[in-house]
Amino acid sequence: MAMRSWLAGATVVALLGAGACGSPATKPLFKTDPRLPAPETAAFDPAGVGDPYFPTAGNGGYDVSSYDLKLRYDPATGRLDGTAAITATTARDLTDFHLDLHALPATKADVDGTAAATRHDGDELVVTPVAPLTAGQTFVATIAYGGTPSPIEDRRFGSGGFFRTRDGAIAMGEPASASTWFPVNDHPRDKAHYTIEVTVPDGLAAISNGVPSGQSSQGGWTSWRWEVTAPMAPYLAMLAIGKYRVVTSEHDGKPVVSVVADTVRGDDAQTALARTPEITDFLAQWFGPYPFDAYGGVVVDDERVDEALETQTRPVYPASTFRRGPDTVTVAHELAHQWFGDSVSLTRWRDIWLNEGFATYAEWLWQEHEGTSTVRERFDRLYRNPDNRIWSVPPGDPGRGGLFSDSVYQRGAMTLQALRDQVGDDAFLTILRTWATTHRDGNATTGDFTALAEKVAGRSLAGFFDAWLFQTGRPQL
Ligand SMILES: [Zn+2]
Repeated sequence: MAMRSWLAGATVVALLGAGACGSPATKPLFKTDPRLPAPETAAFDPAGVGDPYFPTAGNGGYDVSSYDLKLRYDPATGRLDGTAAITATTARDLTDFHLDLHALPATKADVDGTAAATRHDGDELVVTPVAPLTAGQTFVATIAYGGTPSPIEDRRFGSGGFFRTRDGAIAMGEPASASTWFPVNDHPRDKAHYTIEVTVPDGLAAISNGVPSGQSSQGGWTSWRWEVTAPMAPYLAMLAIGKYRVVTSEHDGKPVVSVVADTVRGDDAQTALARTPEITDFLAQWFGPYPFDAYGGVVVDDERVDEALETQTRPVYPASTFRRGPDTVTVAHELAHQWFGDSVSLTRWRDIWLNEGFATYAEWLWQEHEGTSTVRERFDRLYRNPDNRIWSVPPGDPGRGGLFSDSVYQRGAMTLQALRDQVGDDAFLTILRTWATTHRDGNATTGDFTALAEKVAGRSLAGFFDAWLFQTGRPQL
């Protein structure tokens, strides 16, 4: 997500999530952090993965490998009808399992082709197959559902998820949004492949993530198909339905899908989007190869979207991002997230600096490349101010309410520059690239990062990371 401090004072409608979460981790979560129990020892909860900041986000007991979504949306009525075929594997014996589904009634469910019972418990959809599932069993749950979607409202994060627009709909939001348009294990810990087919009236576009895989029309309706071949965290799924200008090109043999709302005036949005391949290539020099098989961006024009979001392969930008020119800094931020956040995803929301600190650092790298300011200048300017609020919030544990605080972004980025000063350019580059490679398509924690940095540096950095990530007060240089 783009840096919130740019929108000082605005009632941020940045999108939240309500989440529910994923599946058991396959490795210890917190190698160097004894302050929280590893998830293996946490009690099993069918209605949450046990994320310390969002205990009810996601669900326990299984891991999804793919979602096959078929959706039909009628902008005239605001009604969404869908079928989700969810392939998952159990981590334990289960007599029932939960999916997260917000405000949309399920009308029918089966598990491996046999009808299953469902009941709604708030935003949890509880599915009970006729026979219990056994540990290690792979199954396909098919859920038919339909109704009028509504966003998730959160006092802290605003509203997120699916909302109706003048000519269609937009679905996006962090930390959660997916459960407003499909049944899902809604936590970044449970990443999966997706096929997404969206049927809308002829003349409207239906944009989502990944590789475009065809369109077909019948009876006044057009189906748009998208394939997400690399695992994706649920909050990174997006949907934009409406009148859009869609330009498809190619870069490195991969599709680039650039999408701008019809109502956006001037060329600045398109001009900024057109630099996506160039900016991605620049970032790849720092972070290693771009991790996905498609590129792009979507510029939406609705006042309720006032923050960009790094939705996988296809970030969403509000029209306001480009109102004062082709702002490529925000584009660099969201593209950096493709490595940090999207390919290497969070295991728990507390580690959000691994996303936002890295994306902010990428902004600084891009600005240096563009000749606007150097990374050193950005660091020094922030460090010089002892009264900056970032010193009172530890980015490694900012609190649920501080998830998108300035500290997470700015002090997070400063932590990387301070690390670079500690270990030198070569080791720093090795750390960044090894991080992106080792955890590509996976999940990781702050403990994983600090352990990697220490391994590359060949010495303990415990005091360094503690001061920068976990203590209040300005660290000594
Ligand atoms: Zn961000």
